[in-house]
Amino acid sequence: MEVVGRKFAVLGLARSGIACARLLLARGARVTVLDVKPREALPPGVDELERAGARVVLGPHPVAELKAAEFIVISPGIPDLPQVEAAEGAGVKVLAEIEVALWWLRAPIVAVTGTNGKSTVTSLLGEMGRRAGRPTFAGANLGTPLSDAVDSPANAPDGLVVAELSSFQFERTASLRPRVAVLLNVTDDHLDRHGTFEAYAELKGRVFDGQTAGDFAIVPAGDAVCEDLARRRKGRVLRFGPGGNAFVDGGDLAVRGPDGEEVRVPRSVLRIRGGHNEDNALAAMLAARCVGLPAAALREALATFAGLPHRMQLVAEVGGVAFYDDSKATNVGAALRAIEGLDRRGVLVAGGREKGGSYAPLRDAVRAHIKRIVLIGEARANMKAQLGDLVPCDEADTLEDAVRLAAAAAEPGEAVLLAPACSSWDMFRDYVERGDRFAAAAKATGNIREREVRAKDAKGETNAKSAKEAGKPGQPPAGGPDGR
Ligand code: ADP
Repeated sequence: MEVVGRKFAVLGLARSGIACARLLLARGARVTVLDVKPREALPPGVDELERAGARVVLGPHPVAELKAAEFIVISPGIPDLPQVEAAEGAGVKVLAEIEVALWWLRAPIVAVTGTNGKSTVTSLLGEMGRRAGRPTFAGANLGTPLSDAVDSPANAPDGLVVAELSSFQFERTASLRPRVAVLLNVTDDHLDRHGTFEAYAELKGRVFDGQTAGDFAIVPAGDAVCEDLARRRKGRVLRFGPGGNAFVDGGDLAVRGPDGEEVRVPRSVLRIRGGHNEDNALAAMLAARCVGLPAAALREALATFAGLPHRMQLVAEVGGVAFYDDSKATNVGAALRAIEGLDRRGVLVAGGREKGGSYAPLRDAVRAHIKRIVLIGEARANMKAQLGDLVPCDEADTLEDAVRLAAAAAEPGEAVLLAPACSSWDMFRDYVERGDRFAAAAKATGNIREREVRAKDAKGETNAKSAKEAGKPGQPPAGGPDGR
């Protein structure tokens, strides 16, 4: 793509907007960057763009400015704006940041999408590529923007680009042609934006769009929705899960790649736990074999990858109660797998901003694993209405109150699980802040218990042994959040 002298308006100056503007400037484009925020609220990279020749327009986006461009590049976080629609109506092309990056990517691309598990699989594949000694980039929706892959060592025929892509990014992309496209799962999410499940699933299926017969389309075995989306395109369909090309076989994770060779890794080496993470490992192994990564790289990566923060992370152990932070469970599908993954009974902390789906899919798992639910945020009344007949549901105004209530209800040997099934935006900046606040509140319950025990001690109601058990973080319980 020749961009020298052509006019681009880059909308939104978070990381991907800045990276894209930098890339375009380096390729000789004329770039105007726009953001509604004042300069002091923007990252320092904006000054650097200005020095490199970008015009910076802050405050409300002037329509004339957008209409004057040949292309508008929008960041994934930006909602549909009337100014952009007006410019589009006047003939300006609107692109996703990844589309611009794709113009210049020459390395084989593994694209990873799905409702849940994208970041875990992308990170695993990145680790496998690095362990294989291939110059590897792993990012896009996760961490480093795809634009930064273009001038990285990974962008070479012997390199590897692993791109986590969200459904939003497919909306304005035409040049994606991944060697391997992985669709991990599709369950209800973002219905508030996409309207129906079908519309959301269709969008996810676009990961396979540009593929040809030499490319690979990876889907979960037995998932009719994902299978159909893949089969309607041209890539060779491979499956992970029972009866597929990558599967659990007794004590092993086994994969038969396109070369027919079988690679086995003992399940016991996996440090990320639960059935959903075995699915993630199988999908990553299969994709890795499709781009020729050696067996040793798969084994080493699986044996060392300890998981990402806020995904079923053990954050505190107080008085025999284990506190798990799965703040990233921002939808019902993820929360379901988190609850199913508990190897012990527990108290669930859930709620937040709703996304328009039903909580009914949680019912069986709640019945089997949860003794009480503490609800926060905008969703609490609705969640109580849909789950309150199964177990007692408390409501709390703050996450800290919720953790105190949950901790008080949990017995030694049980768990407190944060798996909200909702987004965090009604009460927090993001899921990271929500998870960090949960961890801090969980640890604080240790201090509360210690004070209570000391107070009881003073009255002679307890002994030193129970004080120690109640107050001090102990060994993690055998097994952790196992069995999912
Ligand atoms: P994403 O990038 O798609 O949001 P993550 O790897 O960050 O995926 O995980 C998001 C949430 O989904 C976490 O709560 C995690 O425990 C859960 N999860 C991870 N993998 C899966 C899977 N294969 N199926 C369902 N839930 C999953």
